[in-house]
Amino acid sequence: MIDTLKNLSFQAIFDASADAMMLTDDAGRIEIVNSAAEQLFGYTADELSDLTLEMLIVPRYRKQYRYQQEFFFTRPIKCSMGAGNELVAMNRNGREMLLDISLSPINMPHQLHVLITFNIANRRLDAQEALRASEERLRLAKQAAGLGIFDYDFKRNIVYWDEQMRILWGKHSEKTVNYEEFVAAIHPEDRAARQTAIDKAMDPTTNGEFKAEYRIVDPNNGLERWIFARGQVYFEAGQANRLIGVTRDITEQKDFQKKQYKQRKEAEIMIKQQVAERTASAIAHELNQPLTAISAYGEVVLQALNNDVLNSDNLKNALQGCVEQAQRAGRSLHELLAFLQKGELITEQINLNDLIHDALNNMYTDDDRWFDLVLHLKQHLPPVQCNRIQVQKVLVNLFRNAVEAMSGSDAPTLTITTTRHIMAGKKMAVVVVQDNGPGVDRAIAKRIFEPFFTTKTTGIGMGLDISRALIEANGGQLWIDPDAGQGAKFHFSLPFAP
Ligand code: ADP
Repeated sequence: MIDTLKNLSFQAIFDASADAMMLTDDAGRIEIVNSAAEQLFGYTADELSDLTLEMLIVPRYRKQYRYQQEFFFTRPIKCSMGAGNELVAMNRNGREMLLDISLSPINMPHQLHVLITFNIANRRLDAQEALRASEERLRLAKQAAGLGIFDYDFKRNIVYWDEQMRILWGKHSEKTVNYEEFVAAIHPEDRAARQTAIDKAMDPTTNGEFKAEYRIVDPNNGLERWIFARGQVYFEAGQANRLIGVTRDITEQKDFQKKQYKQRKEAEIMIKQQVAERTASAIAHELNQPLTAISAYGEVVLQALNNDVLNSDNLKNALQGCVEQAQRAGRSLHELLAFLQKGELITEQINLNDLIHDALNNMYTDDDRWFDLVLHLKQHLPPVQCNRIQVQKVLVNLFRNAVEAMSGSDAPTLTITTTRHIMAGKKMAVVVVQDNGPGVDRAIAKRIFEPFFTTKTTGIGMGLDISRALIEANGGQLWIDPDAGQGAKFHFSLPFAP
């Protein structure tokens, strides 16, 4: 039995090995391989016998292999498996394999051969590969988010940082810096606030969270960039040990915020200017009428004086008129002020038909009314919820415009209608004020609600603008009917009391 075994050929024993083996010469040329090696590398013995072992090594590891090979041949001794010799080889399909190897030098006359046994250590390669992949993923994620990473070792006073941060700090080649160098790039105005944030995070009674925004100044070109830093302080035996964190360049975001702030400020100023303009015009609008009347009374009295025809009754009437107009102006200003300072709008339940009567009676007595008045006021109209003074002001504006427009009409007629309408699914009271003056042509109708639009020589062009604002403040709408036929037809709506 022993003899039979002794007669077994070298090749038969070689092939029987479960481990892949090959014999090479002292230049690494493959001489013989066993079938496990054929399987491992995916080449036939014939194919392999023309190759050097180096050709089976993954190209990026070949230099390292040559170094190992040279080292081995300077002192060829047996190296057993697991002694740390390994190769990263590639099979026929290009699959990379990390192989543990044992090396057994065989000294023949004039020639040194090496028996190499291979064992797959791929798990380690997979782990390395996974680590490499996860590092790569981290790198890509960092790059995509524009993040830099830093690690500040308090004890050693060293800041480790990555390339992204080195670029931002303008210190491209320095892999680490001491803390003072790190801080030197921070804008002097921002250092104190940042240091306070660090001190707070280093306090062991806190959770060690660090957050700060500051500017850094590139020492090479003086360029400023805004940085957002966020990190975590790690404590050891109750002492702050290190701060690990990320930084992000937020310069663009800051610029955008600054621009937005500027635009908002400009808009605010513009609105204030508009409000001031509007207020001034509204005051002018309120005072225009009484001042004109007062000046007219004054002129009448002057003329009478000049002509020596002044009697005490006329004088009394004129002065009475002046007093009334001045009081009216005062009241108007008070109401206007109340409207402009409007905190909460005070509303009450109001009978709209009664309000229309009141407004008309305040404006014209039956004697001095030179136009016909037609009232189509809906009976039993439920009360509306609104501010009495404001709606009355709107009625007066509309009536006055209508009456002024009819000054040249043959049979001037003011028609006032109240109805109910469903608007946007809600029941509303609607007032229609119609005259038979020249009307408003379409091109002008588009502009009459604009502030300062007027076609009158003494007009201010604020009446309709203010009226619309007042009606809207009371929950309604004010509009002109573009197809009114003859004359102008204005409508406004108001909500019914709940
Ligand atoms: P003002 O009366 O000071 O001109 P308004 O804002 O009250 O200011 O009116 C703006 C313009 O709308 C008037 O100048 C006039 O051209 C037009 N308008 C208003 N009401 C009528 C109306 N009933 N008929 C014809 N035009 C009108």
